[in-house]
Amino acid sequence: MSDTTASERETDGNGRSTLPAEFLERWRDVAYNCFSSGHKFCREVCPVMQVTRDERHTPTAFQANVVAMEKGHLTLEDVADDYVHCTMCGACELRCPNTLFTGDFYRFRQRTIDVVKAMRALAVQNGIHQRNWKRWAELTDRWGNEPVLGWTRETSGARVRAWAAGLDLPTGGETVLFADCEAAFKRPSVPRSVAQLLRACGIEFGLMEQQWCCGGPMWETGYVDIAHRMAEHNMLDWRRTGTRRIICPDPHDYITIVEHYPELDDGFDEFEIVLALDVIAEALRDGRLKLTVPIERTVTYHDPCRLNKRLGVWQAPREILRAVPGLTFVDVDHVTQWSYCSGAGSNLWVEKPEITAQISSRRIAKARELPGVDGLVSACPWSERPLSEQGAAQGMEVFDIFELVAEAAGFEV
Ligand code: SF4
Repeated sequence: MSDTTASERETDGNGRSTLPAEFLERWRDVAYNCFSSGHKFCREVCPVMQVTRDERHTPTAFQANVVAMEKGHLTLEDVADDYVHCTMCGACELRCPNTLFTGDFYRFRQRTIDVVKAMRALAVQNGIHQRNWKRWAELTDRWGNEPVLGWTRETSGARVRAWAAGLDLPTGGETVLFADCEAAFKRPSVPRSVAQLLRACGIEFGLMEQQWCCGGPMWETGYVDIAHRMAEHNMLDWRRTGTRRIICPDPHDYITIVEHYPELDDGFDEFEIVLALDVIAEALRDGRLKLTVPIERTVTYHDPCRLNKRLGVWQAPREILRAVPGLTFVDVDHVTQWSYCSGAGSNLWVEKPEITAQISSRRIAKARELPGVDGLVSACPWSERPLSEQGAAQGMEVFDIFELVAEAAGFEV
């Protein structure tokens, strides 16, 4: 985690950090796209802005800062804290008029998330750290997995397979199941459910020799060197055990691997990265997986940001929920849910837990408005921690979709 020295940084006459030329070359047009459009359609769908009502926390501000810094009106020290206020949900990119008017034809999408990531990385490079993110990054680097159990309960690579105790899963093989840090250590019922379902579908799979964090939160909070170490370790592990197909139950892992790993490895195409949701939906469709145990509940579904807004995956989870016998599923369409978020993304909850709590609380309140609904189903373990906390306070039970399906398939979860 090396900071650049003062003499290496680009600074103004007062020693304050300015934008390096390569940053401007990369992100200037993106910023001006927003600055010249200026409609602020994005402002009201932004989950952070919804609770802070602070103009510095809007997607527009994140782009306008780049323009202001280019003109010498602001420095990195002035704006670094602004960029903490983003869950990287992707709502603003979808609601941006530039995306809406040109997206389909030109395959264009405004790039606010990438600008936020780039600015956070530049802050870290220039020695501007957020206290908890720095600590999180240091422990992830030391243990190989994120400190999801707190600062003192070690989540080392040696213990990352503990969730699979008694399931007798082999190491490596053509296909492996990649259980993210949060699920592996904090909500083991999720990977256990997925493992049992995959077996019931007749899919042979193993676990990595020693899985490390996917690196996603390191990329998202600016600790890029650590992210690279995580990714390189994981790809080495896959190659060592002859793995070609990686099944990801967690959308954060999936999106990190497909967006970031290819640029690190010319041979990345040899790997196939698959969402567990798609595997389960397909098995239900072709009859390999049968759900026979009725779940007599009325639930709604929370579209996790990385699935719905970032990847455009919203049909498979609905298909799965509609296949659960006994379940009454009250849907809220995926476009309305562009403005919903759990508040957990990009480790906002580690640095600003009070903002995450407010965002989750609003999400649970939305679910409570639906007639008869007393359960909220998500498909992202990271969202399930803050949603469960707020759900407990508001009388709403929070499930992971795989837990629910495993129960309907007759497994203990
Ligand atoms: S990605 Fe989400 S949280 Fe971040 S600025 Fe855009 S709408 Fe707000």
